[in-house]
Amino acid sequence: MLLLIPGPVTTRPEVRDALTRDIAPWDNDFRVFMARLLSRIQCLAGGNDSEHVTLPLQGCGHFVTEAALRTFLPPGGRILIPETGAYGNRMIRLAREAGRVAVPLPVGLGTRTDPSAIARALSEDPSLSHVGLVYSETGSGIVHDVGAGGAAVRSAGRRIIVDAVSAFGALPLDLSAMPEVDAAVFTANKCLESLPGIGFAVARIDRLPACEGNAGSWSFDLANIYSTALRDGPGSFRFTPPAQILAALDVALDFLEAEGQGARLARYTANMRTLYDGVAELDLTPWLPASVQGPVIVNVHAPDDPAWNLRAFVDSLKSRGFLISNFFTTPTPTFRVGCIGAITPADMAGAVRAIDAALREIGVTHREAILA
Ligand SMILES: *Cc1c(COP(=O)(O)O)cnc(C)c1O
Repeated sequence: MLLLIPGPVTTRPEVRDALTRDIAPWDNDFRVFMARLLSRIQCLAGGNDSEHVTLPLQGCGHFVTEAALRTFLPPGGRILIPETGAYGNRMIRLAREAGRVAVPLPVGLGTRTDPSAIARALSEDPSLSHVGLVYSETGSGIVHDVGAGGAAVRSAGRRIIVDAVSAFGALPLDLSAMPEVDAAVFTANKCLESLPGIGFAVARIDRLPACEGNAGSWSFDLANIYSTALRDGPGSFRFTPPAQILAALDVALDFLEAEGQGARLARYTANMRTLYDGVAELDLTPWLPASVQGPVIVNVHAPDDPAWNLRAFVDSLKSRGFLISNFFTTPTPTFRVGCIGAITPADMAGAVRAIDAALREIGVTHREAILA
């Protein structure tokens, strides 16, 4: 079964094989392993040891995003968050429920965030200390220009938190050139092509000491993760880590380093193109125009046919070996297909054939979009 969902993704068997051992995470050998793993990740983020530290947090992407918001903003602190789609909205909710003030910046769902709109909003409201930007908006499939957004934040003298969860490993990130970034956050189970259970924040060292005590949560305090690691040594953890998941990630990083970030992005882009052009040839309508379609996930308009039924469609695709999301995150009905993971354009061509067959099986004859 191929997982064509935007995380957790299809992984290589070598990555999954790393789960078959018992590992003692408090052992000295594990610390050495972990310190090396963190430095490999930091390198991929373009971080450098004098300015950056890579902080691991057990759990999913929402956890590490919330931890970054709680750590770098004090209670009541104000953050501008472009409403890029489902994940921009999630960042807004995480900030609000943590007692921070999230100020939404309206962004058309089918457009990239305009850096000059960020600049304008920051100049109009000096009380905004931060911007929170989703790099790859997994709701729509659009990749936002983090470099240009960051530059606007830098000229305004503010700070930025980057949700790179569905970007990191494939889309470029060079934190050494982006001193305005307090933290970029991501997980192991998307473009790193590993398994779920661990998140990371690559954070600015110079910002962390002043942030100790902001979080209002011991579990989600990145400054405390940092100070504890300084005390206990590189590669140490505060609480039990998912050791096997980290062992799997180490194997996945071998594959990423061998492939190269640029080649991985090219492969995902070819996956996306094969799917995007393939569904168009089936008379289906992709939700985004090709000019803004990113490489991570493609939404396709649901066909305007009374026989359309997302669940039946998903089940039929599953019986053909392709698993897609059983929900959509767009305002109008769509189905969503992930283009990331250990998959190739040939797999995507197979998925297109399976989509054609599944539509026939559930009795859809009219494939034009529902454009209500
Ligand atoms: C997947 C994702 C998250 C968080 O996902 P979890 O389910 O919490 O791991 C956050 N932001 C973006 C952009 C994502 O794609």
